[in-house]
Amino acid sequence: MSARPRLTVDLDAVSANYRLLRDTVSPAECAAVIKADAYGLGANAIGRRLLAENCRTFFFAHLPEVADLAPAIQAVDGKAFVLNGVGLYPVADFLSAHAIPVLNTLEEARQWAAEAGNAPAALHLDTGMNRLGLPHRDDDKIRDLQDSGLNLIHVMSHLACADEAGHPQNRVQLERFRDRAGRFGNLPASLSNSAGCFLGSAFQFDLSRPGLALYGAQPINGKDLPLALPYRFEAPVLQVRRFSRDEAFGYGGTHSAGAEGYSATIGAGYADGVPRCLSNRGHVWLGGIRAPIIGRVSMDSFTADISALPDPEGQLHRSAQIYGPDLPIDAQAAASGLSAYELLTRIGGRTERFYINELELR
Ligand SMILES: *Cc1c(COP(=O)(O)O)cnc(C)c1O
Repeated sequence: MSARPRLTVDLDAVSANYRLLRDTVSPAECAAVIKADAYGLGANAIGRRLLAENCRTFFFAHLPEVADLAPAIQAVDGKAFVLNGVGLYPVADFLSAHAIPVLNTLEEARQWAAEAGNAPAALHLDTGMNRLGLPHRDDDKIRDLQDSGLNLIHVMSHLACADEAGHPQNRVQLERFRDRAGRFGNLPASLSNSAGCFLGSAFQFDLSRPGLALYGAQPINGKDLPLALPYRFEAPVLQVRRFSRDEAFGYGGTHSAGAEGYSATIGAGYADGVPRCLSNRGHVWLGGIRAPIIGRVSMDSFTADISALPDPEGQLHRSAQIYGPDLPIDAQAAASGLSAYELLTRIGGRTERFYINELELR
C-alpha cells in the first residue's frame, strides 16, 4: 500500500444496506441522504451505485453538493432535495441544477414563490426539533402562497430522538406531523431518518430519508441491526519501536509504558481524520489484535501498543485498520465520545479513496 492513509469503500455493502432499508420501509419509498459527500465516503460513487439500485430520491445539505450527480439524477427523472434550503444561493442556480430546495422558513417560501415561478419545492415543518422548519403558526400563510402559485411537491419533518426507540418525543412528533402534513393538499410526506426507519410503519409515510445506516453505522442505541460495513480506513505502520518500562509516549507524555514492550507508529493523524480524542482511548486493528492507542494522536501519526503480538517487528509497513470490518466505527465512537457521524465525516485530508464493488473489505 502507499504511505498515505487509505479509505476503501465497498459499494456492494452500501447496496446491501440500501436494500435492507428499502425492504424495512416498504411500501414507502426509500430515499438516500448523501449530504456531506455521503458522510465522507464519496457522494459521487455512492449516488451512482444507489441510482443503479433504483433509488430515485436524494437529499443533500447544500446546493453545490448536488452538482456532480445532478445530470445522472435528472436522467432517470429522480429528485435532488437540498435540506438547508435556498439559503444564500441564487434561485436561478437551483433551477439550472434541477435541485429542489427544502423550504425552512416563511421568508424562504415567499422568495421561492416570487422568483422560481412554478418550480417545485419541499416544505419542512418543525415538529419539535427546533432546528430547521416552519412553526405551526405559519401554516396558513403557506397555504395562501400555494393558492397564489407556490408549487410544493413534498412535506417533511425530522425526528429529534429516534435513536432512542422508546423516547416519548417520537410519538409527539409523529402526532404533530400527522396533524399538520395534510394541511397543504395531498402531498407526499416524509418523517424518518435512519433510526426512524425502524420505528414501525406509522413513521414511514410516503418516503423515508436514511443516511447513517447506509454507511453501516448503527442508528439506534442498544440495537444491533444486520448492517454491512462499507468502509475500511487504514494507514501503514511507519516504525516499530521496542520500549523500556520508563518511557512515555507522544506530546505531553500522556502515556507511560510501565513495562517493556513494542509500539507501532501509524501514519495517519488528526489532519487525516483520526480525532485527538481517540488518544489513550481508541484502538487499531493490527496483526489480528485490537491494539490500544497510546499517547496523543498527532497531526500525521499516532502510536499503538503492539506488545501483545507474537511478531511485533514484523508489523513494519503493514496496514493498521482504524475503522472497518474488524474495528467498527461504533466502538471507536464509544471510546472517543464522538458520534459515528462525526468520525465518518472527518476522514479526509491526505486520505486516498478507493472503491470496490465486491464484499471484499477483509
Ligand atoms: C441528515 C438528515 C437525515 C439523515 O439522518 P440519519 O440519521 O443519518 O439517517 C434525514 N433527514 C434530515 C432532515 C437530515 O438532516
